[in-house]
Amino acid sequence: MSGKTKPEKTDKQIIDEFLKKVSEGEKNLKEYEKTLNSTKTMEFEKAYFEDMTFQPGSIAGNIFQIPSKEKNKTYFDIPGEGFDLSIKHYSFRFKELKDCSGMLDVKKKTVFLDPRDCNNYVILHEMTHAYDWMLDHCYPYPLRDILIIRLYDKLKTKIEALDKVLMLFSHYTYQYNVINGKEGDHSTLFYMKCLDLELRLGVPFGTISGFPPELRIKIIRKKPEPKGNEAGR
Ligand SMILES: [Zn+2]
Repeated sequence: MSGKTKPEKTDKQIIDEFLKKVSEGEKNLKEYEKTLNSTKTMEFEKAYFEDMTFQPGSIAGNIFQIPSKEKNKTYFDIPGEGFDLSIKHYSFRFKELKDCSGMLDVKKKTVFLDPRDCNNYVILHEMTHAYDWMLDHCYPYPLRDILIIRLYDKLKTKIEALDKVLMLFSHYTYQYNVINGKEGDHSTLFYMKCLDLELRLGVPFGTISGFPPELRIKIIRKKPEPKGNEAGR
């Protein structure tokens, strides 16, 4: 059948729709909790975490790609029992928290969200923690490293002075005093994934990481290459 195909929704449109749903019909926290656990976080996973879950076609997914004898076909082999990085293994619960809007309890496999200060960006922040933790504790171990390299390569094309930003983020003094304190749990992978999400959603840097302005102002989006550059060469 011919005809116009529906244009795909942009990341921004998807998140705007979620925000609208929250304001319209999900004020009841118990109901909202149910939505979070049954659909919303899975929808976020599908839309934004295809890399951290190693989906075929994602920046890190092709490491499981196995050529097939059948023409034009490849297979994906997900290694090992228990290799399942899905957010579905975590519960989301509302609870009033001290000094933070969200918290991942890895022992309880639960994300606690403060209802007074919860929004989709907090949810994405905590989901990033969950994937980061899962990747840190899953086998095969090098998967996390491969994802870091691929994410770095991707961000390098989009952010000016990425190396400087990462160096500042990783600096001991900065980590100790500003980002993590004694109990650090914001890794470089976590930070890079937040940058990726912020770029994809078109929101200011720091919106999802929550990191302070001195890290944000050093980040400049690279201008896209003007089209037709290759033609004159
Ligand atoms: Zn955090």
